[in-house]
Amino acid sequence: MANPRLLIDQKLEPGAEIALDEAQARHVGTVLRLDAGDGLRVFNARHGEWRASVSAKTKRGMRVRVEALIREPREAPDLDLLFAPVKRHATDLIVEKATELGVRRIRPVITQRTIAETVRVDRLQSIARESAEQTERFDAPEICEPLSLARALDGWDASRPLIYADEAGDDASAPWGGDTGRAAPILDALQKVKAERLALLIGPEGGFTPEERRMLRSLTHVIAVSLGPRILRAETAAIAALSVVQSAWGDWR
Ligand code: SAM
Repeated sequence: MANPRLLIDQKLEPGAEIALDEAQARHVGTVLRLDAGDGLRVFNARHGEWRASVSAKTKRGMRVRVEALIREPREAPDLDLLFAPVKRHATDLIVEKATELGVRRIRPVITQRTIAETVRVDRLQSIARESAEQTERFDAPEICEPLSLARALDGWDASRPLIYADEAGDDASAPWGGDTGRAAPILDALQKVKAERLALLIGPEGGFTPEERRMLRSLTHVIAVSLGPRILRAETAAIAALSVVQSAWGDWR
């Protein structure tokens, strides 16, 4: 692996000596087996990515010395992902893939049909950090505390359109848009979006309730979209929709 990357929240400047915390020392020293003198890269969103080397590896811990700037920081697009937590493995996948796909904030929302009521934010944060290191980002997305859908929408900043993946389509009574009642194709909707910031909402395994759908569709900053003629698993929907968003609006261009 090209010199491994480590997200370090402290100030990065030439000659800085940084003591790794226990988890970082375990990752660098035990998992990656780096020794004194070995090279690595340290980075964060404020100071960019720097060449560094292990300056000490003892039983008491590890230190790295920052050497030279490699890359200036580059911000991920201002894109939030709101998703209803699903089974643990699928939730982990959503967080890991949303990190690779450049999401800035990941916001778990508890909907009426959400099964996973508890969300281990600290656990999801470490998945996001690890994925940020692998995917060559300069920051790890923030994992927010779970909120009910209603609370998440309450006082919403209308300058951030909310792209709502509406599998149920235009007929509020139908469980699913099928061949006729689907919402607007996501790509068509995105081509009309001129906002500098955006959010995407993906529902739980059981989808949104008719009341939730009526509430969502009543909000002017909510844009209901279809992800095509098949029902996607929540994790597939999140990954697919984020890909289209980054390609049509975000930083894939
Ligand atoms: N209501 C679905 C059903 O009838 O089985 C289950 C919901 S689906 C597994 C999980 C979430 O993914 C949905 O709430 C929606 O946000 C998104 N989704 C899945 N397929 C979609 C589609 N074809 N169009 C829009 N959103 C979709």
